[in-house]
Amino acid sequence: MLRLDKTGYMFIIFLSMFFMLGTLQVDATPEQDEGSIEKSKVTDEPEAEQKLRTADVTTQSEDQPVKIFLDPGHGGDDAGAQSNGIKEKDVVLDIALKTKEVLDNEYEGVETKLSRSSDKFIELEDRAQQANDWGADYFTSFHLNSFDGSASGFESYIYNGNVSEETKTRQHHVHTYLADRLEVDDRGKQSANYSVLRNTSMSSILLEYMFIDDSDENELLQKEDYRDQLGELTAESIADTYDLNKK
Ligand SMILES: [Zn+2]
Repeated sequence: MLRLDKTGYMFIIFLSMFFMLGTLQVDATPEQDEGSIEKSKVTDEPEAEQKLRTADVTTQSEDQPVKIFLDPGHGGDDAGAQSNGIKEKDVVLDIALKTKEVLDNEYEGVETKLSRSSDKFIELEDRAQQANDWGADYFTSFHLNSFDGSASGFESYIYNGNVSEETKTRQHHVHTYLADRLEVDDRGKQSANYSVLRNTSMSSILLEYMFIDDSDENELLQKEDYRDQLGELTAESIADTYDLNKK
């Protein structure tokens, strides 16, 4: 018969602890799998991100038209930039009117609204407010650049603060569509703290088509059919990012 003295009890406790540790180790083994779980998470991430992006830009339901707000810059006493007899406010109004005409007449599932359809001044805050009140899905502002005659080309802007993935993705779509077809220098996708971009509650973009004081670009902008072409391309670029079908 085994008689347990103090040392014997200590030995049994020691053994129990040893087996408990063993048990703990066995329990802990699944943790090693987390390595591969982590790995697969990492592998899955780009796909998940991709899905999110796609979801971000295709949230429009079939029977709900996309609401596109078109904002020709300046107007009235505010002529914007001017050079060689033409004014930014007039050129961008022509481009925006043509964009509206093409979207309205040639595409399905889209509604448009202009901040102004004539030569009148509207405060910047009111342009954003109009779009917010209307519940626009997308805000597009039309502008021309000017410098000192030495700069040329096309660029687009989104807000330089917090913007959604949708805003970035749509800028990429619209910018690329236009830059590939405008046949002027591509100055790139930019961001800035512009009032209309900051104050609109939906995704928004500001297009600076060209430089009104560059002699070649001024010559193009003088032509009515070229302005129409800019309007057609802009409508197509919006149709492209929203996957709009032609009528
Ligand atoms: Zn402007």
